[in-house]
Amino acid sequence: ATVAELDEAVSECRRCPRLVAWREEVARTKRAAYANETYWGRPVPGIGPADASLAIVGLAPAAHGGNRTGRMFTGDRSGDVLFQALYDVGLASQPNSVRRGDGLELYGTRITAPVHCAPPANKPTPAERDACRPWLERELELLKPTLRAIVVLGAFGWQALLPVLAHGWSLPRPVPKFGHGAEFMLGELHLLGCYHVSQQNTFTGRLTPAMLRDVLARARDVAGL
Ligand code: SF4
Repeated sequence: ATVAELDEAVSECRRCPRLVAWREEVARTKRAAYANETYWGRPVPGIGPADASLAIVGLAPAAHGGNRTGRMFTGDRSGDVLFQALYDVGLASQPNSVRRGDGLELYGTRITAPVHCAPPANKPTPAERDACRPWLERELELLKPTLRAIVVLGAFGWQALLPVLAHGWSLPRPVPKFGHGAEFMLGELHLLGCYHVSQQNTFTGRLTPAMLRDVLARARDVAGL
């Protein structure tokens, strides 16, 4: 399979009954500000080139963000913060992305998540995280020939990613611990931690734009971009 085929396949997934119900209900009821829009309302595939050397792993799409636009990390405040930083360090062609087909390009970078459907309260259950794991496993397997670095946004993504990495890479012992600015080597692969771009973190200044830019710039450099 190719990455494009994987993206197609994940968009059709209905493995988690609670998340299927939620993503579709949100798409039906909408938020007033988006009442005239057609929500995506399906699993949100990763975005970015199939030969990326940098992967960014978040948590899950937002109900009125990715679940509306169909693109990971777009259409909400968290995505705005991330794309501004990606643009600032030269990894994205524009500082924001409003909808599919708006010309956005990611340079050598692919953005994905361990859970592809918007969860209620942004909290997937452990069972949902585990159910979605095979998608991330396949995606990273496909990216592996070119992949040099992974930035993980937040502890949830880190915990979800480690078992995936244990498959294709050799995990150091003790197991790498999440932290902002944490960096580990898995063979040739750089694993970097960064606080999540959630509003709880960005509004409170726990994660500033400069902190995010620093991690992304480091990742860009070690990924050879
Ligand atoms: Fe499928 Fe993942 Fe969505 Fe569950 S969260 S329905 S496994 S795409």
